[in-house]
Amino acid sequence: MRYEKIKGTQDIFGDEIDYWYFIEENARIVANLYGYRELRTPIIEPTELFVRSVGEDTDIVQKEMYTFIDKGGRSITLRPEGTAPTVRAFIENSMLNAGLPQRFFYIGPMFRYERPQAGRLRQFHQFGVELIGSAHPSSDTEILLLAEHFLNKIGVRDRVLHLNSIGCPKCRPVYRQKLKEYYESHVDELCEDCKRRMETNVLRLLDCKIDVAVAERAPKSFEFLCEECQSHYDALKKRLYELGINFVEDGTLVRGLDYYNRTVFEIRHKELGAQNTILAGGRYDGLFAELGGQSTPALGFACGIERLILALKIHGIQVPQKKACFAYVVCIGEKSSIEGFKIAEELRKRGVPTITDVSDRKLTAQLRHADKLGAKVALILGDEELSRSVAHVKILDKFTQIEVSLDVATDYIVELYRSNF
Ligand code: ATP
Ligand code: MG
Repeated sequence: MRYEKIKGTQDIFGDEIDYWYFIEENARIVANLYGYRELRTPIIEPTELFVRSVGEDTDIVQKEMYTFIDKGGRSITLRPEGTAPTVRAFIENSMLNAGLPQRFFYIGPMFRYERPQAGRLRQFHQFGVELIGSAHPSSDTEILLLAEHFLNKIGVRDRVLHLNSIGCPKCRPVYRQKLKEYYESHVDELCEDCKRRMETNVLRLLDCKIDVAVAERAPKSFEFLCEECQSHYDALKKRLYELGINFVEDGTLVRGLDYYNRTVFEIRHKELGAQNTILAGGRYDGLFAELGGQSTPALGFACGIERLILALKIHGIQVPQKKACFAYVVCIGEKSSIEGFKIAEELRKRGVPTITDVSDRKLTAQLRHADKLGAKVALILGDEELSRSVAHVKILDKFTQIEVSLDVATDYIVELYRSNF
């Protein structure tokens, strides 16, 4: 019997892992540069957390959640996103006591039961940031600046920032009414889901992946903002202009989750086809109160790592390659193997990635293997060498070989390693 991975999941290995290291390392570096600290929340959460926050009538809750009943009879869901868990953790751990604002980032797997295709998986991974405790447009600016900084740093070009404001509970009813009137006059062009949602949650229609053409001509949310939302939006746009962050206004952008208010945004890549949103987010000032906490303004974004990798590959960006080892210790026979293990361990203690033979193979087979692993040097310890207390150091891609005394062999290799050879 052979087993296969679950549809929409991936095994990540070989050279592919270098892309993951590259993105995750840079995500941590950039997040830290802006003062964001990592928050790790569980993969599993109570189902109600997402129903309550993401929204009953969203695609995520209606169709995409991995939900099961555990042995204690509780309804559990594999997290489909990272913001609701962040807010839950913030409230539950009384993090408010540490004062505001606070800055968090997360990196990890998310789960959604979707139709798998390029850039759309059932287990995918996000790097996300959340800035909690400021309603001021400068916090929106910081989040967008961080997003741009990160994408520039890893080299994702050819992208467009789409920006919108979807108002607040005060002004949104006016917009909702306009939208309803608009969609009522186009009801024949709508899919079944949208016909139903027209009554329950008309904003959702703008995010429909089927009725795209109708949505494009719909009234724009930023034309119906109240005074406060308007000045917040204007102040953000002014700051973005001043800081040289390019964006396009996209008055029908609403995002697929219900908790957003005011600022929403997406960064789309020009060459990624249907799954072209690489980063998305917005403000969620009402979410803390919705989840039983003290009302606290906040915003953030999440970025799809798989889609970033697709973009890096389109650009032909070479990420640093992590080879299995720098040094390979060739051992021939029992005595040489024991001595080889001692030397290899010494090298590792001094920071040199080192592999030794563990299969008792012939010299040539070991050298071939060392080459295949991408080792730079091989340290050869045959009986003849050991009897004279020396070793041969072979520079693998240069076909040169020198003899060194055993007591300086590790020094010599450490030196080669440090000289970035
Ligand atoms: P989409 O419109 O593409 O379905 P979304 O609005 O559902 O995206 P969010 O919930 O905002 O996306 O997630 C933020 C980011 O996470 C997306 O922009 C995307 O890069 C990534 N993402 C979301 N769902 C998936 C998925 N199923 N597979 C891979 N990446 C995903
Ligand atoms: Mg989606």
